[in-house]
Amino acid sequence: MAYTFKGGIHVEEHKHTSKCETVTVPTPPVVKISMNQSIGAPAAPVVKKGDSVKIGQLIGDVPESALGCPVHSSVSGTVTGIEETRVTDGSIHKVVVIESDGENAVHESVTPFTGNIAELSRDEIIRRIRAAGITGMGGAAFPTYAKIKSAVGKAEYLIVNCAECEPFITADHRLLLEDADSVIAGVKILLRATGAPQAYIAIEDNKADAAKKVQKKLRGVDFITVKMLKTKYPQGDERQLIFALTGRELAAGKLPADAGCVIFNAATCAAVYRAFAEGMPLVRRTLTVSGDCVKTPSNLSVPVGTTASYLIEQCGGLTKTPEKLIAGGPMMGQAQWDPDMPTKKSTSSLLLLSADYSKKPATPAVCIRCGRCVKNCPMRLMPAYIASFVQKDDMENAEKYGAMSCVECGSCSYNCPGKVEIVQYIRVAKNHIRTEAARMKAAREASENK
Ligand code: SF4
Ligand code: SF4
Repeated sequence: MAYTFKGGIHVEEHKHTSKCETVTVPTPPVVKISMNQSIGAPAAPVVKKGDSVKIGQLIGDVPESALGCPVHSSVSGTVTGIEETRVTDGSIHKVVVIESDGENAVHESVTPFTGNIAELSRDEIIRRIRAAGITGMGGAAFPTYAKIKSAVGKAEYLIVNCAECEPFITADHRLLLEDADSVIAGVKILLRATGAPQAYIAIEDNKADAAKKVQKKLRGVDFITVKMLKTKYPQGDERQLIFALTGRELAAGKLPADAGCVIFNAATCAAVYRAFAEGMPLVRRTLTVSGDCVKTPSNLSVPVGTTASYLIEQCGGLTKTPEKLIAGGPMMGQAQWDPDMPTKKSTSSLLLLSADYSKKPATPAVCIRCGRCVKNCPMRLMPAYIASFVQKDDMENAEKYGAMSCVECGSCSYNCPGKVEIVQYIRVAKNHIRTEAARMKAAREASENK
């Protein structure tokens, strides 16, 4: 039986790289490592221009009291500068620029944990995961140690998100096929850390080969089960995943732990395992480089901070000029304007798409009230209404109709016959509502402090 959620859409898959084994790229000559690798406070650089660094060495740190993750060098070489640059989400980040010496020397602090993990306290496991700078690698980049803490005493189910429901991306699919052992070992550590009694490894049914492989590895393990999901977008959204597997609904503003669940991406689980088995912090990841403009679409294992242009070169370059470079999937990813932008711990793919994938409507967008967006919305909103309120600058009603519950999956816009950019309107509403809430909070605090 394949589990699923209400609403959602079937998108063209374009998973052309699902049979492409992961290739480790040659060490890039330079990496630009962002100090904002996760949600929360940015790390402050602890190295300076001219310093020599090695793989796994701490280069940016965050105070223990703040939400955030330490950052480590992904290459050995020399720090040539600390700059401000625009990164994948469009914001300006401080980046540590490191020129590689090609030696790939590993820092002395990187040592495997040789003891028995079962004898480590929960606090010690969480401390090590934080120190390794592990963040969610599925896109949201929530610090893993903080997610574990939020689930302690609440989580009944640990869910491993292997839905990979965005078109084109196959990095997690390959991870399950090539290194399921690391994923499973990471799940066991995370079960111990969160206290959850059982885990579900949730895989969409278009990856039956990976599910079979993982199932085989789990023979005799009754507390970790593979659950097949129907291939549908946005199956990987946390709310949809929880509903599909447990039937529980998560209200807007609530965390998965409030529904007795904690969710980790497959790559995050493997990174947790490596932090113990090798002592290696999160300094590299596998990502998919694809799209109709890339000569050889591939799955690549890359040091964090490698630039998109270097990765395109590793795929044989371009066959035609792309209209769009997207970091992440085509549904929820972000368009980039600089091919020299550095990849982050959360960058799951780079897509180079021609105009065929980003056709603009020939006629002005107009809602024909077909109701398709309502049927497709997994959050059961009325997207057309919210968009029309935003068009009239009526943010009050946009909020009343649930704009803040929108997970920005794009299912409403995907096959709107009127070509209305619904999700863009909803983003405008959400930004407005957040800004207004912050303004009111500041005004309230100012009057209280008078
Ligand atoms: S899918 Fe498009 S045309 Fe149909 S109701 Fe929604 S906004 Fe209007
Ligand atoms: S309104 Fe939001 S949650 Fe609903 S389909 Fe559109 S983007 Fe997805």
